[in-house]
Amino acid sequence: MRAILDHVGIAVQDLELALKFYRDALGLEVEAPEEVASQRVRARSVPVGQAALELLEATSPDSAISRYIEARGPGMHHITLRVEDIHAAAAQLASRGVRLVDPEPRVGAEGALVVFVHPSSAHGVLVELKQGARVPSDLSLTRIRLGDLQLTSLHDGLFRLDGGAMFGVVPRTMWEKTTAADDRHRIQLAMRPLLVEGEWGRMIIDCGAGDKWTPKERDIYAFERGRHLDHALADAGLDAGAIDVALATHLHFDHFGGATVRGHMGLAPRFPRARYAIRVAEWLDALHPHERNRASYLGDNFVPLKDAGVVDFYENDQTIRPGVRVVRTGGHTGQHQIVYIESGGRTAVFTADLIPTTAHIHDPWIMGYDLFPMETLVVKKRVIREAIDREHLIFFEHDPLVAAGYIRERDGRRFVEPVR
Ligand SMILES: [Zn+2]
Repeated sequence: MRAILDHVGIAVQDLELALKFYRDALGLEVEAPEEVASQRVRARSVPVGQAALELLEATSPDSAISRYIEARGPGMHHITLRVEDIHAAAAQLASRGVRLVDPEPRVGAEGALVVFVHPSSAHGVLVELKQGARVPSDLSLTRIRLGDLQLTSLHDGLFRLDGGAMFGVVPRTMWEKTTAADDRHRIQLAMRPLLVEGEWGRMIIDCGAGDKWTPKERDIYAFERGRHLDHALADAGLDAGAIDVALATHLHFDHFGGATVRGHMGLAPRFPRARYAIRVAEWLDALHPHERNRASYLGDNFVPLKDAGVVDFYENDQTIRPGVRVVRTGGHTGQHQIVYIESGGRTAVFTADLIPTTAHIHDPWIMGYDLFPMETLVVKKRVIREAIDREHLIFFEHDPLVAAGYIRERDGRRFVEPVR
């Protein structure tokens, strides 16, 4: 079990008097007061590094805090440790004979799940375990008609990457206002392949991470694929056999890991009838990774495709199927490309890792993963300017909440208007 200190709860007679020490004498910053009606307490949180001191004043004589002060006087009331999986933590403690106040985790303040360990089992200290509220995500299918084409945003579940790496030079004090990080500094991301259906057939653009993962990799990337691409295809009334073309924006595992599956005959193409459209220069880069990108290019995800004879290699920017055009951006990888989908006078852009989430619509918010960030900057500025001016519909492949939307600019402020 990993546990980190979340806060120390301190029972006080009078909040205002307590602030004379914690705020005025110590000179610490204090957050706005918070009334927790269910506990009949008023709280002031005093951040100290990653953790906080929580000053608790009873608002009613039957509150646990008044009873505590009556019996023992004011002072330290509890400590709270944050854990990742509170059900596993509670089960582990129970199996070792630790006495829990609640038999099962329950919902506490701010929607977090909590469980209390009885002080008799914790050497006189009331210990609260807490699992942070889950980052919201929305993986429901988004269907959009674009001229003659039907676009359906699918998904291959969720995963997490280091928040710092996702925002490059942007400091955490800025990005964490829009994107919450977990105890291991990772942020929640989705994998959203796009289905394009035309008279010519069905194409999937990227195909998620797939499930060829070791326990160690599952732990590092926190894959949540209880519902994955097969479920999303089924929700769209399809299965893997319905795909005619699988197009790769680039060959990183979170984009094309789902291109192969491990069966009893070894590794095989995931979509049994599909041709796989891959830019040859990206293929060569993926086959010859260096120290900086080796963790992202995993041969099992693409080498078996060539062995099976299902790859259509191509060289330059071009139309892959009527209305679907690839444009090399470079930046993220040497040959990273985005996909323009054009029909009926309208344009949608599948931006892959050029604009991975809605938080990345600001020009300098560029991933630390990018091999050529200045190339990303130049291309991204142009793509976003065009998207705003010409109302291009943007697909955000990694956003946990928003599959697609329009980038707008009003009074110098840039934002995304989601489309559902
Ligand atoms: Zn990616």
